[in-house]
Amino acid sequence: MATEPLLDRRSFYIDGAWVAPASPSDAEVINPSTEEACAVISFGGRADVDAAVGAARSAFSSWSETGVTDRIELLEELLDIYKARSDEMAETISIEMGAPIDLAKASQVGSGIGHIKSFIRTLRAFQFERPLSDHAPETLIVHEPAGVCALITPWNWPMNQVTLKVAPALGAGCTMVLKPSEVAPLSSMLLAEMIHEAGFPPGVFNLVNGDGAGVGTMLTGHPGIDMVSFTGSTRAGVAITKNAADTVKRVSLELGGKGANIIFADADEKAVIRGVRRCFNNTGQSCNAPTRMLVERSIYDQAVETAAEVADKTAVDFARNEGRHIGPVVSAMQFDKVQRLIQSGIDEGARLVAGGPGRPEPHERGYFVRPTVFADVAPSMSIAKEEIFGPVLSIMPFDDEEEAIAIANDTAYGLTNFVQTQDVDRARRVARRLRSGMVEMNGQLLGYEAPFGGFGQSGNGREGGIWGLEEFLEVKAVSGWSAEQA
Ligand code: NAD
Repeated sequence: MATEPLLDRRSFYIDGAWVAPASPSDAEVINPSTEEACAVISFGGRADVDAAVGAARSAFSSWSETGVTDRIELLEELLDIYKARSDEMAETISIEMGAPIDLAKASQVGSGIGHIKSFIRTLRAFQFERPLSDHAPETLIVHEPAGVCALITPWNWPMNQVTLKVAPALGAGCTMVLKPSEVAPLSSMLLAEMIHEAGFPPGVFNLVNGDGAGVGTMLTGHPGIDMVSFTGSTRAGVAITKNAADTVKRVSLELGGKGANIIFADADEKAVIRGVRRCFNNTGQSCNAPTRMLVERSIYDQAVETAAEVADKTAVDFARNEGRHIGPVVSAMQFDKVQRLIQSGIDEGARLVAGGPGRPEPHERGYFVRPTVFADVAPSMSIAKEEIFGPVLSIMPFDDEEEAIAIANDTAYGLTNFVQTQDVDRARRVARRLRSGMVEMNGQLLGYEAPFGGFGQSGNGREGGIWGLEEFLEVKAVSGWSAEQA
């Protein structure tokens, strides 16, 4: 295989220009399909972070005063550019984090288009100012931009997560410093080019690369940052919250998940197949993946057999190849973690019915994982509790509705749960009792403007729609605002 030329992406985007790091600190971006470096970036230091935060602070006074219509126009421009350069974006995401190219085009890039569009809609309809109520019409409620934001994002759905923050922050009138994942920073750098091309004023959007211990920590503790919007692991979310506490920043967290997919005996015939595919989508690297399949005992054996067949038929291939296969997991670290958890499933007594440790044939290189299914998983096992973030499904039986709900809720997380039954009353009853920010029923996806976020250790933020916009707004109450004076 020909070696790709190494991209030089060492610069940061600060105050409307690409600038060299104050002191170089090179890091490689690895293509997970080949384990070879595809680009070199630099990790920022204190001087870069101060420059970016300073630029964002200077820009805030004028940007926060712009009218929402002007900001919407710039977002529309950005949307056009994003669409025009969507193939480039798909290739970039596919190379940096291993999403198969068709998935990268349709879902990874597509989610960015969907979010920018939907925030434009939300901004058009949102009432930034309104009277409190009929009993106090002279009290005005004003929504103002939250300030200078640090946006910190993971690698698994890069443009999904970045646009869920950047679009509402821009629309709300905030200025910002984005620190994308050091594992997959290239797509965010491409987005920065697009933001520049769209004509946002210098300093409104800034990007500094780095890791969590470095730039991430500098940003979350920085006195010039008013708000942190974070998506990533629960571990990092806890560290960020603590670090941000000294300066009483607003912290919005979107963290991990361990979704339960409750399949009742009367579920539609595609429910199991759909559940396995959804679990393996994006090579199992989604916070909202249904990784615990809970199956009513009367259809349990059949479900296990079907799930194993789906896993056996799931092709694993290079990200650059077209088709419906899954790709590699993102990094050596993730590969090792997934392998460790697969081994723990075997050691702790779960029944391996598909896949297992090691790479799938014929792959000897690349972070490829075998699509794996465990049956007879007990809720106490590591594979039932820990977020694996690979194509690994855990199946367990249940006897009745109460038990299914109890198992589903027996987790520190609470992001997305799933219910499959044709009994409408039961579906609604169960959905109400599941302790999670989202419940997906019978394969129906949530709409674009629905709030995305979790209960418990899945976080405290809500992204998307009105809720996602409000994350970036402060609320002010003003008395004595009579209609005549307006
Ligand atoms: P991660 O927490 O390791 O890193 C996420 C980001 O945080 C990266 O940019 C990283 O550099 C930064 N970071 C890490 N430690 C930090 C610290 N102490 N201070 C400041 N920044 C820090 O997560 P990851 O491995 O990149 O992504 C996978 C995780 O993200 C999974 O747990 C997944 O469930 C979660 N996730 C959640 C959602 C959601 O919306 N709930 C969506 C996607 C992914």
